[in-house]
Amino acid sequence: MRKSLLMVGAGLSGAVLARQLAEAGHDVTVLDTRSHVGGNCHTQRDPETGVLVHVYGPHIFHTDDAEVWDYINRFGRIRPYTHRVKTTSGGRVYTLPMNLHSINQFFDAAMPPAEARAFVAAKAVTLPYTPRNFEEQALSMLGHELYEAFFKGYTAKQWGCEPTELPAAILKRLPLRFTYDDNYFFHTYQGMPEDGYTPIIAAMLDHPCISLSLNTQFDRPLAQGFDHVFYSGPLDSWFGQDAGALGYRTLDFARLVHDGDYQGCAVMNYADAEIPYTRVTEHKYFAPWEHHARSVCYRETSRACGPGDIPYYPIRLAKDKALLTDYIARAHCETGVTFVGRLGTYRYLDMDVTIREALDCAALYLESLAHDRPMPAFAVAP
Ligand SMILES: Cc1cc2nc3c(=O)[nH]c(=O)nc-3n(C[C@H](O)[C@H](O)[C@H](O)COP(=O)(O)OP(=O)(O)OC[C@H]3O[C@@H](n4cnc5c(N)ncnc54)[C@H](O)[C@@H]3O)c2cc1C
Repeated sequence: MRKSLLMVGAGLSGAVLARQLAEAGHDVTVLDTRSHVGGNCHTQRDPETGVLVHVYGPHIFHTDDAEVWDYINRFGRIRPYTHRVKTTSGGRVYTLPMNLHSINQFFDAAMPPAEARAFVAAKAVTLPYTPRNFEEQALSMLGHELYEAFFKGYTAKQWGCEPTELPAAILKRLPLRFTYDDNYFFHTYQGMPEDGYTPIIAAMLDHPCISLSLNTQFDRPLAQGFDHVFYSGPLDSWFGQDAGALGYRTLDFARLVHDGDYQGCAVMNYADAEIPYTRVTEHKYFAPWEHHARSVCYRETSRACGPGDIPYYPIRLAKDKALLTDYIARAHCETGVTFVGRLGTYRYLDMDVTIREALDCAALYLESLAHDRPMPAFAVAP
């Protein structure tokens, strides 16, 4: 039976879900408070330089999921792109992720892989227990010099707290390579949309069964009359943040325009604590097939997210997890709504994971309908 569905949010989660459900024959109304589709993946031309800008921070598409890769390629041309990141520390430039080149540069050496591995292992701090936090994890992998030069200041700036307050698990994900491979990602597929992400997401939403309302803030009464709501807004906002706000980091972007090249690469991190910003993105490097005489860069600073700020990175420390548990319990008591995406589930999700989860969520909804089963509040546990 044809259903009338409401999708809150026209980001990647909302667009993929809307598309899948519209293709299955349902009517989907999509609304977003912003004036554009694409959520945080939104791209637009900078009016002064003509450069395609990743408005809410740099976005590189990378995945091992062949179905997700095929899916995004259905809606626009993805061109080959390999992401490489540099970092400035102590007035010198190194390549990231930490690899044989950065190690040799830092120690002014020319060690082959096995020698470098043994050298770093000798620097590592031996703890009589499993590392309890980020700092201990880093020291037990890298030792003091590399940790202090590359991770300590950057991490404190990014998260607004001491690295000793952060879980060890954050660092376990950062690769340490004993080769000269400086490709930032390990994934099989990597690329950049030729015309940016926004036209791709607009193409997903371009379907006769989808109607789109931009500049429209969702409020609970708007859900009336719909058979089901998929909500990709912040989980705590569904409840009016009545138990408190889940903690996020927000970002400030200072725009700077430059003649020619500003920094010679897409992303330059700044590892030193004394430099207040974390990185500078030079957007024209995301479209190496384009040529621009001028360049636009965004200098990025991280700070605590307050009322009215854009929530970027969920903090998920103990205080937030306790609050999250409370909101999850209450979400399970709701009917007719499923919380999706990075904000609806209070998790950091890469774009490929976002698409995968939206595809699976749409499949779960169709299966629930077919078997007359209730759709759960979460398709993926937050
Ligand atoms: C700085 C940064 C860099 C990133 N870089 C990468 C990268 O390089 N590669 C990668 O794979 N991923 C990256 N990501 C992750 C990527 O941004 C997410 O995977 C993606 O945005 C998730 O899509 P979403 O639809 O779940 O959320 P969003 O993009 O946040 O979309 C949610 C939408 O809901 C709307 N909304 C919220 N509340 C309401 C309401 N009450 N009423 C109406 N509308 C509402 C919002 O306006 C927004 O448009 C990055 C994320 C950040 C923060």
